[in-house]
Amino acid sequence: MDEQDNCIFCKIIREEIPAQKIYEDDDIIAFNDINPAAPVHFLIIPRIHVASLLACDETHQQVLGKMLLLAPTLAKEQGCTDGFRTIINTGRVGGQEVYHLHIHVIGSKTRLPAMIHKD
Ligand code: AMP
Ligand code: ZN
Repeated sequence: MDEQDNCIFCKIIREEIPAQKIYEDDDIIAFNDINPAAPVHFLIIPRIHVASLLACDETHQQVLGKMLLLAPTLAKEQGCTDGFRTIINTGRVGGQEVYHLHIHVIGSKTRLPAMIHKD
C-alpha cells in the first residue's frame, strides 16, 4: 500500500471525502481548515503527495513557488486585506499532524496572537 492511499489530503484530492474548496487547478487545491484557528483559515496543498518540506527536493521547486504565490491572492479573496499569517508545520518538532505538505493561511480582522511564546 502506498503512503497516499491512506493520506487524508489525498482523499480530499480524489474527492473521497468532502472539503470546502476555495481554489483548484492542475497542480494545487486550497480548502478551509476543518478546525479553524481564526475567522480565515485555509490550507494550500499540492496535488502530488509529498509528506512535508523535509521530503521536498528541487523537483518540487515550481509547485512550492506556485503555492506560496497563491497565498496572498487567496488570502485577499477571503477578506484578508491587511495581512495574514502563513505557517508550514514540518515533522514531529514542527507539530505536523497531517503528512501531506500544506501551507496554512490564517487571517483575522484584528492582529493575531504572537506565534511562539518564549516562556
Ligand atoms: P498540521 O498540524 O500543520 O499538520 O495541520 C493539519 C491541519 O489539517 C489541522 O489544522 C487540521 O484542522 C486540518 N485538517 C485535518 N483534517 C482535515 C479535513 N478533513 N479537512 C480540512 N482540514 C483538515
Ligand atoms: Zn497525500
